[in-house]
This record gives sequence, C-alpha cells and structure tokens, in this order.
Amino acid sequence: MFVLEYKVNPKPHQIEAIEEAIRTTQFVRNKTLRFWMDNRGVGKTELFRYNTQLRSEFEFVQDLNSHACQTAVERTLRAITRFYDNCKKQVKGSKGYPRFKKNTRSVEYKTSGWKLDLQTKKHITFTDKKGIGRLKLVGSRDIQYYQPEQIKRVRIVRKADGYYVQFAIKLDPRDTVKPLTPTQQAVGIDVGLKYFLADSQGNIEPIPQFYRKTEKQLNRLNRQKSKKFRKGKPQSNNYRKARVRYARKHLRVSRQREEFVKRVALRLIQSNDLVAYEDLNVKGMVRNRCLAKSISDAGWSLFRQWLEYFGDKYGKVTIAVPPHNTSQNCSNCGEKVQKSLSTRTHVCPHCGFVADRDVNAALNILQLGLSRVGRTQTHASGEISSYPVGEILLSNEASMNEESPTL
Ligand SMILES: [Zn+2]
Repeated sequence: MFVLEYKVNPKPHQIEAIEEAIRTTQFVRNKTLRFWMDNRGVGKTELFRYNTQLRSEFEFVQDLNSHACQTAVERTLRAITRFYDNCKKQVKGSKGYPRFKKNTRSVEYKTSGWKLDLQTKKHITFTDKKGIGRLKLVGSRDIQYYQPEQIKRVRIVRKADGYYVQFAIKLDPRDTVKPLTPTQQAVGIDVGLKYFLADSQGNIEPIPQFYRKTEKQLNRLNRQKSKKFRKGKPQSNNYRKARVRYARKHLRVSRQREEFVKRVALRLIQSNDLVAYEDLNVKGMVRNRCLAKSISDAGWSLFRQWLEYFGDKYGKVTIAVPPHNTSQNCSNCGEKVQKSLSTRTHVCPHCGFVADRDVNAALNILQLGLSRVGRTQTHASGEISSYPVGEILLSNEASMNEESPTL
C-alpha cells in the first residue's frame, strides 16, 4: 500500500462541504466511542450496527457516503484495539485509553462515493450528498496509471497550507522494481550523539544544518504564538495568524526532514546487501543516550521506517538488533571497555584496536546483525515489513509521495 498525494484548490463552498464531511467523520467516530464506553464488552459488530442506527437517526450522517462512515468506525476500532493490545502487553505507563477527537483533519472514502474523470485524468468528483463536487488534482503524477480497483482509499486532508487528496494504492512495491544487484557489502549503523549516524565502514552522516536552524525558527514562532494567546477569552486575529505561521513552518520542516532521511536510507540500501541497526524504538526504554534533541529522535524513527521500506522494495536485508553494550564492547576482541559519553575514541587495552567511538559501536551492531540473519527479525523475505510505511504514515494523516524529485 502506498499513497499518492495531490494538492487541490477547492472553492469556498467546496471547503465548507469538505469541512462538513470531516465534522461528520469526527461525529461518527466520537459517537461510536461513547457507545463503546457506555456498553462494556461491545465489539466490532455492535459498533457497525450502531453506525447504521446513527445513519437513520441523523440526516447529516446519512449524507456522508456509507463507506466513509465505516472508516470512521474503523478509526474508533483501531484506537480500542491499540488500547487492549497495550494492556495485554503490559506496556509501562499510559495504555492509551481511547479519547474523543476534537481536531480531526481528514475524511476517508473507500471505493465508492467518488469518481475519477476518465477524460481529463486530472479531476475527481465526490458523489455523495455532502456536495464537495469536482476537484482538480494538482501534481505531476498520473493517477490513471493505476487501475481503479487498485485504489483502496481516497481521503481529503486539511493541512496548514491547504487541502490535499490522497489515494492509497494497493501495490506491492516489489512488483514494480527489480531487486538491486547484490553489492556484497553489509553495514552496521549507529545513531551518534554528534552525527546523524555513523556506519561500520567508517562513514559519517552529519546532522544537517537545517535541523538546528529551523529548530530555532520554530521556537521563535512558537513563542510569538504563545505571547498572543489569551486565556479564557476568544482569540485575536493576530493569534490566529501566528498559529498559521507556526503550523506552516512545521509542515515545511517535517517535509525537509523527510527528504533528508529518505535520501540517507536509500543510499544505504543501494550500496549494501544488509543493514543492521539498533532497535531503539522500544517504548519505555530508558533514554540515557543523551539524545535530548527530540528532533533527532523524530528523525530516527522516520529514518528507520524508510530504511525498512526501501529494504523490502529492493530486496535487501534490514535487521534490528537489541541495543546492548554496543558502544562499550570492543568490536575487535569483544572485551568490555568502559568509556564515558565524552570519550570520542575507542581504544582497546586488550587488543590495541582503535576506532571512532560510533564506528566501533556500528561494527558491534553489524556483528550482532550478521549473527541474527535468518531469524524472524529480518525483513528480507516473505511478507512485507512490519513497517508498511504507507499505512503507518496514512494513519498519522501524513502522506508518502514515494520517490520525490530530489532522490
Ligand atoms: Zn579489543
């Protein structure tokens, strides 16, 4: 599953209709959640039945395409399932009890309620009674390249800089590309304190300058926004403007960041047959690695998703190893060599091996990775990875424009 995204420029009355459809989605989601809370033990069947009841009770729910209503119920179900899963797995801390939404940003159709214009190939018409009507798809990609039955979901998303239509297309990426020729190379990577990452071949990827720069700009805009906030009173126009400025900047920064991690991930996959990395994405993990900058954290998990995605796509192995003494142990002889966070170089008193601290860690990660090949953690064969990027990002209401022009 991957996502194609187009900008649209709806007219004022269409914006109203889109917002009305989004509100209805939110209404159905919150209503079914309330129903679940009030009736302990109800499951999928009862929730869908309740949805049918809502449709007969409220005309504005009836106006929204029935499958779009279903996806709203599915959103509730996802939240409930996640909560139960966390309880079952005894996740530390909050279990994420489902909450009511008050700022839904999208409405999602399935295979009905919309039609692509087969003549122009650049328009979509929404045909339910919300009255959104015909929208022009702005973007260079040709949606008509795909069979209509491959389009599983169509959603309209509100972002800081306008409205977008996304198509979720069912397509195994491996069907469209040939696996890359083996390079006979394997690599381990470590997220450094000073670098974005260091690899076992001695290469270092610095943290791009824009990370720091835009971080400052973001903070400034956030402060300006907060200064204009009036507690307990209706907000001023200046506050609204500041909020929009902040949101737009945020959007730009996250797009920039995504471009960066995508480029690094693709390069690693193209030049190696196996990529090993630490399994840092564990909830409740003690964050003692001084990765204080949340920005590098965010970048890392996004990076990992793309790495695994490209790995699957090009038939390469990606493997996550448990983080365990990878920076302390000597990658040459295996002895433990204690060092503080400020020690930048690994010098082994046992065998004399000298390397950059992060490169030594990356070597350990590679060895761990190689020793685990063939076990279940790899993403090389069979099923598509545990991180189907499209779907994850889809659930976050973000998008994935696959290979972007800068790649
Ligand atoms: Zn050693």
